[in-house]
Amino acid sequence: MSESRIKAPRGTFDVLGDQAGARTELEARARSILEGAGYHRIETPAFEATELFARGVGESTDIVRKEMFTFEDAAGRSLTLRPEGTAPVCRAYIEHGMHKRRQPVKLWYLSSFFRHERAQAGRYRQFWQVGAEALGSEDPAVDAEAIVLLATLLAETGVRGVRLRISSLGSPETRGEYRERLQAHLRAHQDSLAEEVRERIEANPLRAFDSEHPDTRAVMESAPRLLEHLSEADAEHFAQVRELLDVANLAYEVDSTLVRGLDYYTRTVFEFTSDALGAQSGVGGGGRYDRLVQQLGGPPTPGMGWAAGIERIMLAGELSEIGGAAKPAAPVPVELFVAVDGPRDELRGVAFGLLSEARSAGLSAQMDLGGRSLKGQLGHADALGARYVAIVAEGQAILKDMQGGGQEPVATNTVVHAVLRSHHAL
Ligand code: AMP
Repeated sequence: MSESRIKAPRGTFDVLGDQAGARTELEARARSILEGAGYHRIETPAFEATELFARGVGESTDIVRKEMFTFEDAAGRSLTLRPEGTAPVCRAYIEHGMHKRRQPVKLWYLSSFFRHERAQAGRYRQFWQVGAEALGSEDPAVDAEAIVLLATLLAETGVRGVRLRISSLGSPETRGEYRERLQAHLRAHQDSLAEEVRERIEANPLRAFDSEHPDTRAVMESAPRLLEHLSEADAEHFAQVRELLDVANLAYEVDSTLVRGLDYYTRTVFEFTSDALGAQSGVGGGGRYDRLVQQLGGPPTPGMGWAAGIERIMLAGELSEIGGAAKPAAPVPVELFVAVDGPRDELRGVAFGLLSEARSAGLSAQMDLGGRSLKGQLGHADALGARYVAIVAEGQAILKDMQGGGQEPVATNTVVHAVLRSHHAL
C-alpha cells in the first residue's frame, strides 16, 4: 500500500529552477545597491521571544492580534516566528551594544518572514523580504537616502508602474492628541462604520484609513488629517525629507491617509505600490521609528527603515525574465568532468580523489554519480558543457579536450596539472 503524499503547508511555496536564479540575481542587486551605500548584512534568528513583537510591533496591530505563528518551547517560553524584521534588528542593535559604534549603524537583510494571512497571489504565510534599517540618526537625509535606495532597487529589478506615497505621522505626543480628535470624529459617525473599524475606535483608530468599506471611506473623507496637526519640528523634518527627494529627482505623492499597519512608526512613512500587481499592490514600504529601540529596553535611538517583498518584486518586475527565460541563470561552467571506464567499485576512489584534487586546485569539477555507461557519461559531460573530460581507467587516464577534440593518455596524478596548464595557455 502506498502512503499518502505530504504537501507543503498552505500559503508556502518551493523555490525551483529559474525562480532560484532570479532570486540570486535580485539578492546580488540588493547587495550591490545597499552595501554600496554603507549598509552591512545582518541575519537574525527565524524565531524570537513573542514579547519582542508584542511590545515592538504593537498589541493592537493585525500582525500581533491575528497573524503570528506563536508556540511554546519545552520550558514554556512563548516564541514567535518573526513576522517582520525591524523589531529583531533593533533587538540585535541593543543586545550587541551597537549604539557604541559610529552612528548611524546601517544594516540590511534578506530573510523569510511568517504571517498567518489569507493565502492568495502575492500573499503568503512564509514570504521573503529584503530590508534596510539605519539606526542612530534622525537626519532627514537618512530618510531620503533609504527611500531612494528602495526606489533604485525597484528600478533595477524592472518593477513596473511604481508609485511612491509618503506622509508623516509626527511624534507619539502629537499623534496622541490627534487620535482623540479622530476618535471623536469616528464616534460621531459610528453608525456608518464597518464593524471592524467600529470595534477598533479605542485601540487603533488610525487603521480606519485603510478600510475598503464604502461608507467608512466616506466618513474618512471628512476626517481630520494628522498631517495637518504636526508639531513645528515634525513638519520641518517632513519638509526636509521632501526637499531631499526633490533633489534626488524622485517623484512622490503626499498621502495624508497613509498610516501603515505597525505601531512603531513616527514621522516619515512611505509605501511603494505597483500597478502590475492585483489587490496586493504594496511592493515595499517603511518609515521612521524613533522610539522603538527605547521601547525595547535600549538607549534612546532614532531609526529609519523599510522592507520590500521579494515575491512581489518578482511578480511586478522583470527579474524572472532576466534570471529565467530571456537570460537563463548562467550555469557554472564545468572545467573538468571525471568519467570512469571500467569496474566502478574499483575506480570510484581514484575518480573521487581526482575530483577533490581538481576542486582544491580551484577548478569547477564534477564526476559521474549516476552509474552511467562510458557513452552516457560522455553525453552527460557534453550536456554540462564540460571543457575537459578525464576518463579514469585501471592504471591510467585519458584526458579528452571536448572543444579541441583531441585526447591523450596521462597519468592520473597529472590530470589536474595538465588542465591547469592548458587553461593558462588559453
Ligand atoms: P510590511 O512589513 O507589512 O510593511 O510589508 C512590507 C512588504 O512585504 C510588502 O510591501 C510586501 O511586498 C511584502 N509582504 C508583506 N506581507 C506579505 C505576505 N504575506 N506575502 C508576501 N509578501 C508580503
